[in-house]
Amino acid sequence: MRDATSRPDAARLPWARVVPVIGVLALQGDVREHLATLRDCGVRAIPVRRPAELDTVDAIVLPGGESTTMSRLLAAFELLEPLRLRIAQGMPAYGSCAGMILLANEVLDGRPDQHQLGGLDIVVRRNAFGRQVDSFETDLRVEGVPGEPLRAVFIRAPWVEKAGSDVEVLAVVPAVTSSGAAAGAAAGRIVAVRQGTVLATAFHPELTGDGRVHALFCAMVDQII
Ligand code: GLN
Repeated sequence: MRDATSRPDAARLPWARVVPVIGVLALQGDVREHLATLRDCGVRAIPVRRPAELDTVDAIVLPGGESTTMSRLLAAFELLEPLRLRIAQGMPAYGSCAGMILLANEVLDGRPDQHQLGGLDIVVRRNAFGRQVDSFETDLRVEGVPGEPLRAVFIRAPWVEKAGSDVEVLAVVPAVTSSGAAAGAAAGRIVAVRQGTVLATAFHPELTGDGRVHALFCAMVDQII
């Protein structure tokens, strides 16, 4: 939370600050971890399961989980169109892993009936790291995240195969992971991006207790709303 007294604009009165409400799509996936990490950033965070709840939030987080299941549930819970519309209208959105897949305009190795929310001019490949390396961790530098590299946990993660010219690349897989292993085909792959109001990571910062990616998103939300 900000310390208003140490800021030059403290005269704006700390209690006048609007605390953003950030929703976490709560149909499936690691919802609790995102809610907890967001609350640590000092925002109000609420689960979103229905359109009326979506109407009350300033921004949305799409959690890790299974994008095909979430896509099916988005349609069943009548959230697909309203969420697409809010994102297209500029509501800030952050997706981790399956959330990144949902935000991509195009998916490779998806299910043919998988729905996209869109918002990011990227092509992602689902389960890109392959069966051999279902999950791995490495330290990673992320543009906009100050300090030490952060621990990136990849679980059946996608990578970004193509990114449009309006997409900022925030992180790529290093050639050698922090365990000393060669990253092989994953080396140099794009795993964190931002396009305007939309942020996405192929990894799961919500699982590490390091709130810096969520803090980056909250700072984006603060600037936008
Ligand atoms: N492989 C999952 C999918 O396709 C994503 C995995 C994750 O979110 N950890 O949605």
